[in-house]
Amino acid sequence: MRSGCVYLVGAGPGDPDLLTIKALRLMREADVVVLDRLVSEEIQDLIPAGTSRIFAGKEAGRHHLRQDEINDLLLRLAHSGRRVVRLKGGDPFIFGRGGEEAEHLAHNHVPFEVVPGITAAAGCCAYAGIPLTHRALASTVHFITGHAKDDGEIDYDWPKLVDTDCTLVIYMGLGTLDRVAEALIAAGLPADTPAAAIQKGTTSAQRRVIGSIADLPERVRACRLVSPTLVVVGRVVAMAEVLDWFEPMPEPMPVAIQVAR
Ligand code: SAH
Repeated sequence: MRSGCVYLVGAGPGDPDLLTIKALRLMREADVVVLDRLVSEEIQDLIPAGTSRIFAGKEAGRHHLRQDEINDLLLRLAHSGRRVVRLKGGDPFIFGRGGEEAEHLAHNHVPFEVVPGITAAAGCCAYAGIPLTHRALASTVHFITGHAKDDGEIDYDWPKLVDTDCTLVIYMGLGTLDRVAEALIAAGLPADTPAAAIQKGTTSAQRRVIGSIADLPERVRACRLVSPTLVVVGRVVAMAEVLDWFEPMPEPMPVAIQVAR
């Protein structure tokens, strides 16, 4: 690991076993780790106790650094000669603003490396029993964000997203699920197209809600899913029942109330 270099590292969707060997090695060797809100606590526990940690946010209502502040922080840490790991949920180059951070470093001639991680679409769908592609059900995959721009509008060419042979994966889609579902149906997606929402995928708190594109928003509300949740739309979602292999573990009971056998 090089001093004065920033490693943009993907931590995967949550299960620490899904970290790459490279991610784990860099986390152990770093002088400082700059963390993203999405990095699970179990993964944070793998950072050695003596390593500096900086929380960069971003959670609604909590203090967080703005993107330009994060960019400058990475620059300063690298200039001070430290070995910096910028640890991000999933993959750094998929809706993670890793591209912007790398661009800022490149412009300022700071050496950096990018370590891919398992993105939420791959991780959550695997653990939810939903193959992203499947012969006769889907031969293409589309990743989109449901995050609305400042004016509150999500602005897609909806008819282009309507394709029954494609799996549509929506990141950051919880807050705008009603609007997205309506827009897809209005653009011609059959209302009975299978759709799923996966909360905290790959972790012990994973929950799957399955329905159709027409009723998923209501089901998600009824189940009170919280962020991070990934939305998947397409015929492959129908496989989820047959391929349901992952059993999220209930939280372990405090030792004091465990019954001796
Ligand atoms: N770079 C990340 C995505 C960041 S955008 C990646 O490659 O996965 C944040 C969104 O990702 C969340 O709003 C949610 O839609 C999705 N996401 C990330 N981790 C998730 C998880 N464990 N379970 C469900 N959705 C997740």
